[in-house]
Amino acid sequence: MNVILIGAPGSGKGTQSRYLMDKHNFIQLSTGDLLRAAIAAKTAVGLEAKGLMDQGKLVPDDVMIKLVDSYVEQNKGKSIIFDGFPRTVAQAENLELVLKKNSSAIGKVIYFRINPKLLVKRLTGRRTCVKCGEIYHIDSKPSSKGDICEKCGGELKQRPDDRKEVIGERLDQFSKNTGPTIDYYIKKNMLAEVDCEKDPELILKDIEKILGLSN
Ligand code: AMP
Repeated sequence: MNVILIGAPGSGKGTQSRYLMDKHNFIQLSTGDLLRAAIAAKTAVGLEAKGLMDQGKLVPDDVMIKLVDSYVEQNKGKSIIFDGFPRTVAQAENLELVLKKNSSAIGKVIYFRINPKLLVKRLTGRRTCVKCGEIYHIDSKPSSKGDICEKCGGELKQRPDDRKEVIGERLDQFSKNTGPTIDYYIKKNMLAEVDCEKDPELILKDIEKILGLSN
């Protein structure tokens, strides 16, 4: 089953994706991670995306749709968690076409509901392992090894777009573009919702219930 996780930056989609991958048979497509990898590899897409990402702006739909199209094609038959895609109505419409082309479909869309006031603190305190992508928070989930990842020994860093100066723009982009995407799935009667102010393990339980994966 393919699952879309949709929610503001900092709402916890990445953390829940990792739980779902560890516990269940999913692979994760984080379009943000894909773009960061393209930047690190200095590909043409990476070079185009970097300036936009550093300013908190969205990468154009045609670029994103092409990336997702080839990912889906390469992972035919697997259950994909879409984390951070779609973020616009055009992306949502095209995702359906891409999946259909691969004899697949969207199973569930899960909206991560959270009070926007909590997001700035979550994002500015977030630290990510440069090697394995594990997510920490300086207050709520610090690494016992300081700036080093507990899982793989990689270095923990703040993402350039998690700085206070960029967060406002990312949140604006979310309400301007992803708000209508959420409405799109409400109209299609596909949206389930989880409360993301709870403990992450309880959020996972709610998601498992929605996906019919509870024991
Ligand atoms: P994320 O890691 O999901 O927070 O994404 C980081 C940044 O990557 C976003 O602020 C955008 O600049 C870009 N990005 C990721 N996914 C998309 C998408 N579906 N559409 C457009 N831009 C995206």
